[in-house]
Amino acid sequence: MEREVRVRFAPSPTGPLHIGGVRTALYNYLLARKLGGKMLLRIEDTDQNRFVPGAEDYIRQSLEWCGIQLDESPWVGGPHAPYRQSERKPMYRQYAQQLIDNGYAYYAFDTPEELDAMRARLTAAKVPNPQYNSITRAQMRNSLTLPAEEVAQLLEAGEPYVIRLKVPRKEEVRFNDLIRGWVVVHSSSIDDKVLMKSDGMPTYHLANIVDDHLMEITHVIRGEEWLPSAPLHVLLYRYLGWESTMPQFAHLPLLLKPDGTGKLSKRDGDRLGFPVFPLEWHGKDAETGEPTVSSGYRESGYLPEAFINFLAFLGWNPGSTQELFTMDELVEAFTIERVSKSPARFDQNKVRWYNEQYLRAKPDAELAQYLVESLQAQGQELDAAKAEQIAALVKERATFPTDLAREAQLFFQRPSSYDEQVISKKWNAQVAGALAEFARELPTAADTSPEAIKALLTQVLERQGIKIGQVLQALRVAVTGAAAGPDLMHIMSILGPQETAARLEQAISQLPA
Ligand code: GLU
Repeated sequence: MEREVRVRFAPSPTGPLHIGGVRTALYNYLLARKLGGKMLLRIEDTDQNRFVPGAEDYIRQSLEWCGIQLDESPWVGGPHAPYRQSERKPMYRQYAQQLIDNGYAYYAFDTPEELDAMRARLTAAKVPNPQYNSITRAQMRNSLTLPAEEVAQLLEAGEPYVIRLKVPRKEEVRFNDLIRGWVVVHSSSIDDKVLMKSDGMPTYHLANIVDDHLMEITHVIRGEEWLPSAPLHVLLYRYLGWESTMPQFAHLPLLLKPDGTGKLSKRDGDRLGFPVFPLEWHGKDAETGEPTVSSGYRESGYLPEAFINFLAFLGWNPGSTQELFTMDELVEAFTIERVSKSPARFDQNKVRWYNEQYLRAKPDAELAQYLVESLQAQGQELDAAKAEQIAALVKERATFPTDLAREAQLFFQRPSSYDEQVISKKWNAQVAGALAEFARELPTAADTSPEAIKALLTQVLERQGIKIGQVLQALRVAVTGAAAGPDLMHIMSILGPQETAARLEQAISQLPA
């Protein structure tokens, strides 16, 4: 029988979710939806030293903002609850015991000093990467080297120990990664990883495999940084007797900084001039403990649809030239086969471009709402009908919703200065005279549509024997102060004849012709 597709996003609450993490969540979500399966979220909080308060809530809010819906999670529950590893602690012990009983794991009683001494010995002997492994374990204090009675005594006496995986000395571990194809690793390069710590808490490796098995996960889609752990995970599935239902692995390509010089990391914060986090994060400086604020896409004015569309393309392409995809369209188009192996470079201009596309595609009434709200925040009032006209006009010049209010300022303020270049080239007595005439006639106009205003202007200029091309730039500067902006006839129409005429009179009186 075909198994139901079940994928998981398994973040550790060690800080804010980085955009790479959001991309991992997104690809999991797309695959689950595409294949009619389920997506769950599991909090991997076995490392209590790295726990950061607020991180879990941040992860939840980020996914909600992005529209990534979870079928099972610590918040909505589900058939495999609990979904926080710290709450599942008692479940892992039996699997570590099973591995010991079957000869795949062992107790290790080495003290931190003994481990340091081992590393120092190996370093002195010029061993490149000193590890606790199939060779070195023979010299250490563990249940493979100590007599059985001594091990029993140590356990009885409550001596601290960890449980380590007994990695075979000479074995090829292979698995078929859905993105990278066959991955073959020699077991001699894998160390005897700790599976259970002395406090009885499982490590990431054990908890992750046990939970993926119990939660019936069919596909593990995660970042490339986990590729080196995958062979170890394959061994764990085998030794626990779960190989036949082992999930398929897909390791996603790295996300690089815009210049391609390295991995885009959480530490990049705002240094590169764009956010690396979906939402603003209030944290603490690791060294000084001072409060820090890292910017987020949401607070910077990005629309979730644009952010998601952009992220989807960081490592995947649909195989066509289409660039704009709603979430539903992404679900439809997504396949793991089209995820690239090669690293994806972050492109700041591209994410802005996406935002512009989504912003401009919004209904004018919705844009008007943004405009009214931004203006209100600045203490300016605007009625809904005017707001809609202005929003429709200025949207082509906006990347973020707040740009609408900036672009709208020309409707609130008469020019306090005039673009000097245009004035020096285009302003002269003839032009000023023609505009004065236009200003006189404007208030009599019955029709104030952009077309009617243009017709009136053309008439006035014809009478004066001037071509429209000779005055347009000067007229724009006289009305708005600036050399560039949205369509001038629409601006004058929205300002209305009285205000336009008043602005022209102001320009004529202030600018020497
Ligand atoms: N807890 C790991 C992380 O924080 C999950 C890795 C995995 O998906 O297996 O990325």
